[in-house]
Amino acid sequence: MANYQKIKGTQDFFGLEALKKKTLEAKIRVVAENFGFQEIMTPIFEYTEVFTRSVGDESDIVSKEMYTFLDRGDRSITLRPEGTASIARAFNENKLYGNGNQLNKYYYCGPMFRYERPQAGRYRQFHQFGVEAIGNSSPLLDCDVIMSAYRIFETLNIKNIVLKINSIGDFASRSAYQTALQTYFKDKLDDLCGDCHRRYSKNPMRILDCKADKNNPVLLNAPKIKDYLNETSQEYFKIILSILDCFNIKYVVDPNLVRGLDYYTDTVFEYIIQSDDELNGLAICAGGKYAGLVRELGGPDLPGIGYAFGLERITSLLNNQEAWGNLELGVDVFVIGLDPESKQFGLQLAHEWRMGGLKVELDYQSNILKTQFKTLERFNPSYIVIIGEEERISNTVTLKNNTTKEQQRVAVDKVMAIVKEKK
Ligand code: AMP
Repeated sequence: MANYQKIKGTQDFFGLEALKKKTLEAKIRVVAENFGFQEIMTPIFEYTEVFTRSVGDESDIVSKEMYTFLDRGDRSITLRPEGTASIARAFNENKLYGNGNQLNKYYYCGPMFRYERPQAGRYRQFHQFGVEAIGNSSPLLDCDVIMSAYRIFETLNIKNIVLKINSIGDFASRSAYQTALQTYFKDKLDDLCGDCHRRYSKNPMRILDCKADKNNPVLLNAPKIKDYLNETSQEYFKIILSILDCFNIKYVVDPNLVRGLDYYTDTVFEYIIQSDDELNGLAICAGGKYAGLVRELGGPDLPGIGYAFGLERITSLLNNQEAWGNLELGVDVFVIGLDPESKQFGLQLAHEWRMGGLKVELDYQSNILKTQFKTLERFNPSYIVIIGEEERISNTVTLKNNTTKEQQRVAVDKVMAIVKEKK
């Protein structure tokens, strides 16, 4: 048999891991909907320009991480590396802005693809849950979005998360800052990596976000954006921090936080893991405000704000913090039939109970009691129903509680109520 393997940096989800993923998504969806976000589903691939125009040529994502290929019509297609650009594209294409600047709040959940070096918490196909609020701008909205992420952590019982926040200013502040950075880096280029040389002329702010030069003192001592924020940006950021204070959300203002994607303006933030293992310091959720993205993709001049969670990282964190609570893979009832007619009768009963909302499983092949008891171990049933000729004729079953091991003969039409009562 051929020995096929999954692509490096991807995962198969089955059994408990699939259940974890489903549980996580379900819980997060509830919070997002409570905060007024509605689901939006976009294709997992887009024309490449959707990402190059928005995320930025100089970003790591566009310059080296995208899965890009020509389709059979010679069009350049990219598997989505992130969600925001696709949503801005969909927002414009479907004219979701309506007649003016009405606010639209969306959430999305699904796979993203980046050609990164696989390591702890970093995959080539990973899953993000994200929100985007597009249409108008207010510090209240920024805070509400940041709080929705915080609420997701609370709901999932995740501890030891720190909110890092910064303002990278509006376009006017940014332009003054870029000039200051170019002046500062001019005679220090020899100390920077090859990528940063390119970034120097095109987008010097990106140098501050360089993974290779992360601990380089030249970066750490670079001018800080806070000294270049104009009054409007300063005021905007001040209000945000004061609202966060009111909600008792603990945050750290990190002047070095600039975020890797081109479209951010003003508020940028990340939630970081604090732990004593390999996940320490990893971002688990990241986002910010984007004033120019919708316009850049050919739409009206409307701002947005959003974030994305990495679901794999949340899963690792929940594993480490043992915070999953009760995850039940088992079934409610396993049906055993001791002869062909009893097995058929069992299948009919299983059908009825399933229609009544129970999870029911059976062994389709064997009539042998011992074999069926062996089969049921995989399904961890709460109850076992045994049907032989005697039971079938009297319209009863032998019902065994698989926890207490007590068993009793009960009428067929009583089974559902008994099982549901114990659920
Ligand atoms: P970004 O879109 O780069 O801002 O990332 C948002 C979040 O997605 C990060 O905070 C991570 O939790 C997650 N993430 C990004 N890249 C990966 C990856 N390669 N593997 C797993 N999770 C990732």
